[in-house]
Amino acid sequence: MSEIIFKDAKIRRPQDAQPEQIKSIFPRISPVRRGDIVAIKIHPGEYGNTTHVRPVIVRTVVDLVIEAGGIPFVTDTTTLYKGMKLNAAELIKAAAMNGFTHASMNAPFIVADGLRGNNAKEIQINGKVLGSITVASAVAEADSMIVISHGKGHPASGFGGAVKHLGMGCLDRAGKIKVHEVAKPSIDPEKCVMCGECVEVCPWGAITPPDIDRSKCCGELSCADACQQEAIIPPPQASERMQKRLGEAALGPVEALKGRIGYINWVYDLTPGCDCFNFSGERFVEDIGILAGRDPVALDSATIDLINEHMKPNGGSIYTVWGVDPWIHIEAAEKIGCGSREYILMD
Ligand code: SF4
Ligand code: SF4
Repeated sequence: MSEIIFKDAKIRRPQDAQPEQIKSIFPRISPVRRGDIVAIKIHPGEYGNTTHVRPVIVRTVVDLVIEAGGIPFVTDTTTLYKGMKLNAAELIKAAAMNGFTHASMNAPFIVADGLRGNNAKEIQINGKVLGSITVASAVAEADSMIVISHGKGHPASGFGGAVKHLGMGCLDRAGKIKVHEVAKPSIDPEKCVMCGECVEVCPWGAITPPDIDRSKCCGELSCADACQQEAIIPPPQASERMQKRLGEAALGPVEALKGRIGYINWVYDLTPGCDCFNFSGERFVEDIGILAGRDPVALDSATIDLINEHMKPNGGSIYTVWGVDPWIHIEAAEKIGCGSREYILMD
């Protein structure tokens, strides 16, 4: 059973402000040893998204790492979808536009998987579906890491928190493709009106309607979101298969860092979509607070349970946001050895 710290969002005194809460939490979850190079993994949000974790929270963690004798850097990885995170140059620019600069955070922002997302270390994980996974090199080579995740909904995994941050956000491009490739879609020629919207959003030049070149497609499904005709169809059980890979891939960074990772879930501004969306949708539940621990499976389990508890009076749950069951990737992460779904909540 893992201990998970919970700080409620209902704040009434300055001493309970979120940076103060993080200062009280940090010594209980910190893996940092004096002299460590410490990755602080965040998602700075696409430009246009306004509900990602704030720079002041990252700054608080940076200063605590320095106080503990560590050498911090803040980091994220490039994406498979076409936005401002497709390569390191644009990702650094997007992060700065959202307020994540050396001046605001007191640490440099480094793209963990290099200019085009190809810098990585292969880690054996011996899962049921994945034998190995490629972890972004700046993550894999750090001595310890703090993962700060925004708890929110996600169209492919139902919920995005610490496990998703490990099993997707800490991977290089090849690792992300390995997780997504089971979702390569096809186009229904009966529904396709040849509008070309999907061609515009596909970063990998895979679409010539009504055909998709499977050798170029990586299965990240931007095209399905863009198609107004619902003509782009993922294969059966794409979400379940992708989530099983996601949960297993989460072990990659855990193994690379020999478990020296602390996790903070920032469970505020719970939007249906993830911070990769270039807009922020309406919140589906009120703010919950901050949860933290050393076990990502227990942390996400506690977070989902609290979200469900808050949604229950209105007949909802995290499942009802997208009709996607998030426990699939959490259970896969538990089975492969990332942590335990059993937890005890502590103040
Ligand atoms: S967006 Fe949909 S309708 Fe338009 S070309 Fe692509 S598949 Fe066809
Ligand atoms: S075809 Fe669709 S799923 Fe495949 S890479 Fe292009 S946008 Fe992504």
